[in-house]
Amino acid sequence: MAALLVIAPGPTANGDLHLGHLAGPFLSADVCARYARATGRDSLFGTGVHFTQNYIVTTARRLGEAPEELRLRAAEQVEATLAAAGIVPDGFVRFDERYLKTVRTFFERLHGEGHLRLRKVRFPYLPDTGEYLTDAYVRGGCPVCLAEGCAGLCENCGHWIASGDLLDPRSTRHPELPVELREKEVLVLPLEEHRTALASHFARLAPTMRPRLAQLVEELMARRLPDYPITLPIDWGIPAPFAETPGQVLYSDTETVAWSLHAIALAAESRGEVPGDEERHWALEAGPEVAYFFGSDASFAFALAGTAMLLALGGLALPAHFVTNEFYELDSDKFSTSRGHVVTGRQLTAEVPRDLARYYLAATGPDFQRTNFTRAAMDRVCGQRLVEPWNRVAAKAEAYLDRGPLPVSARSRHAAALIAERFAAALRPRRFSLSAAAFTLTEQLGRLDRWEVTDADAGDFWHELDLFLRCAAPLLVDLGAEGLPDPAIPAEPTATTVRPRALPRLATGLRGGPRGGARGGARGGGR
Ligand SMILES: [Zn+2]
Repeated sequence: MAALLVIAPGPTANGDLHLGHLAGPFLSADVCARYARATGRDSLFGTGVHFTQNYIVTTARRLGEAPEELRLRAAEQVEATLAAAGIVPDGFVRFDERYLKTVRTFFERLHGEGHLRLRKVRFPYLPDTGEYLTDAYVRGGCPVCLAEGCAGLCENCGHWIASGDLLDPRSTRHPELPVELREKEVLVLPLEEHRTALASHFARLAPTMRPRLAQLVEELMARRLPDYPITLPIDWGIPAPFAETPGQVLYSDTETVAWSLHAIALAAESRGEVPGDEERHWALEAGPEVAYFFGSDASFAFALAGTAMLLALGGLALPAHFVTNEFYELDSDKFSTSRGHVVTGRQLTAEVPRDLARYYLAATGPDFQRTNFTRAAMDRVCGQRLVEPWNRVAAKAEAYLDRGPLPVSARSRHAAALIAERFAAALRPRRFSLSAAAFTLTEQLGRLDRWEVTDADAGDFWHELDLFLRCAAPLLVDLGAEGLPDPAIPAEPTATTVRPRALPRLATGLRGGPRGGARGGARGGGR
């Protein structure tokens, strides 16, 4: 089967990952890649950090730090947080010479093949300082939904808002200074030229797109698609390699495809592949299945503009899945690093075993709508639905430790196939849903917990318990690493006997520092 390429686009490199990040794209992508691999599928998981958005500049100003230092520090924090949460990408994008070269090569090709146009575009401009204002440099009203925010991707409606279209724009750094609109020639990708191909690709994806992305696509297709700037007249970013736009930089939000190609190339090389053409894994003849995981407010950049760039270039696989998520809230209020209303992934995994954190984030994750995290609910839900039933099931199973091998009935093989299919329905990229996976896990664990095991059906119980643990292991990485001889999920249950073995227990809190609570927790979960 063709490779599955799993991509969780990197967050802006201006801080650590909070639970909202983890509960959305990163945990999903990790579980999706682990599950695919356990079923014998070749999968590559790429993520990293996005180093060029001007939000890094505005955050650095607020913190009194150099943006170059902030982004390096943020990258280290992100990597440490992913590791603490058991999220193990194969490739991690950093800002280095090779990344710069990948980006430049990508845009030189896009330009060389005639897909970019030089257009006069209106930007807010500060006459007092001579600065053009884009994205994080400018705030105002969204012309689509009226929400207050910066230019670029609107967090509220998901539309991409050209800086010059913001209502009542003002500088984020100098809000007191007068702003005028000034035209400047920049290179753009006219998305309207790709309307027909975009419409037919999104028509194919329509049955599986989540509602917010489906709505955005519908709204965008109902109007003229924008000219998406590839270059900007600001000085933060990767210098644009074009004679027509001297002194300009590449618009950071257009790096999406080049970033993704690079992430997957790094992932393949971490498995021992020799570095080569960054596009090789996306070639149509390689037939990859590309699955993206991101917050729905990033949809325009990755799903719409990204697909348009891939269509323009041709010969590369188009993404087959855009698994989007909504906002996760903390105590019914939006996560906010600047207000200190935040729990980072490392704070949580320093307090509770990471399997519990993964389970709870999955169970309450914002797959389809805003959801809420509270620590009290987490402790209660993990105790009642995971730790206590699992520990009872493990104790019940270990009563048969010295009695193997035990016979497995045809009825149990059929039951195991049904259990595997329920997990597959939640964990295959087509209908991927962490909350559905956590729900299935809870239901199946409850069934094992209620099972009054007798000598006659102990083999069936052990057989279904073993299959359950294999299907739960992409989520419960430490339990799986310690409780399974290997992570493989059989395509079809064929066992006629099963041999009982010792099983790990789950703890509700950590003893002896991070990762000490779930035994075997220091291991990478079998990857
Ligand atoms: Zn909006």
